[in-house]
Amino acid sequence: MANKDYYQILGVEKNASADEIKSAYRRLAKKYHPDVNKTPEAAEKFKDINEAYEVLGDDKKRANYDQFGSADGPQFGGGGAGGFGDFFGGGFSDIFSDIFSSFGRGGSRGRVMEKGEDIFVNLSISFEEAAFGVEKSISFSKIEKCSACHGTGAKDGKEYSVCPDCHGSGRVRFQQNTMFGTTIRETGCTTCNATGKVVKIKCDKCGGKGYEKIVKTVDVKVPAGIDDGQTLKMRGEGNAPIRDGINGDLNIRISVAPHKILVRKGNDIYLDLYIPFTQALLGTKVEIPTLKGVYQLTIPPLTPSGTVMRLKNKGVKILNRESYGDMLVSIKAEPPKTLDKQTKKLLEELDSKIDEKLYSKYQNFLSKR
Ligand SMILES: [Zn+2]
Ligand SMILES: [Zn+2]
Repeated sequence: MANKDYYQILGVEKNASADEIKSAYRRLAKKYHPDVNKTPEAAEKFKDINEAYEVLGDDKKRANYDQFGSADGPQFGGGGAGGFGDFFGGGFSDIFSDIFSSFGRGGSRGRVMEKGEDIFVNLSISFEEAAFGVEKSISFSKIEKCSACHGTGAKDGKEYSVCPDCHGSGRVRFQQNTMFGTTIRETGCTTCNATGKVVKIKCDKCGGKGYEKIVKTVDVKVPAGIDDGQTLKMRGEGNAPIRDGINGDLNIRISVAPHKILVRKGNDIYLDLYIPFTQALLGTKVEIPTLKGVYQLTIPPLTPSGTVMRLKNKGVKILNRESYGDMLVSIKAEPPKTLDKQTKKLLEELDSKIDEKLYSKYQNFLSKR
């Protein structure tokens, strides 16, 4: 994803209001909609406009974009993820249907641009793969335009003729008599299902449907720092529309397997470290597991049980940023499992040397009762 100036694409100022952005988007989307604009650059332009609006039309994504510059905001597939857009969809389809209905001219079913259905798949990855990023291949079945007939449904993509009822426009007009007089209305042509074409000889491969179900394999670049339950979106990898239009999207829901010892919360890693109480008192060095291998942790003398030691930047990489969470080690000073005679004697000796008053925070409270 190259650095794109979304404000420039939509032709608005950097401080434009949400309404200004929305209306600029609607105006441009109508102008460059591939259904009305047949110039070669229209499709690319339409894609850019949608990409820009998907970011600027969403307060949170827009703030990230403003803060982090073009593609490097934490919501976007930075690092050349290519097809990835946002991680959390939304905001797109509602305005899209607005535009469709405005193309529909008074409620008639015209030849509108259709978006194929989105596909949802799950992808299970390990704790480490989520932390460091990984590339995976996933296979899923999807509806694709028939390769033999290029979606026309006609043998070799050629054996069709122009629909006699609509003369290829996909729309038919009809007169309607109302109490106010006669009006001309337009509707989608039923003879050709608004495609403008009538199949003469059906395609052998798809039986004239124009589409087929295939198993597709895509390579997914899972970015470092992704968390359980987040979704990656690959634009255009979903189902093809039944008629003209654009493909839906592929949504990949990530599930991250738990680690045997480490626990992740956000970008931080937590570890409960159990040590003998004597070592907590005397101080010690302990080897602990971290994301990047074994680390020697120094525990200072007289460390109370429950102390949390923070190891800076030893957590998970923050999505699409060059910074890391922390690792938090909670010290659990454990008593011995059994108390033999000798141990008991040593402890009693130790106990006799301890000034209890230093420990009791509620001694005063108790003595006043
Ligand atoms: Zn027709
Ligand atoms: Zn076919």
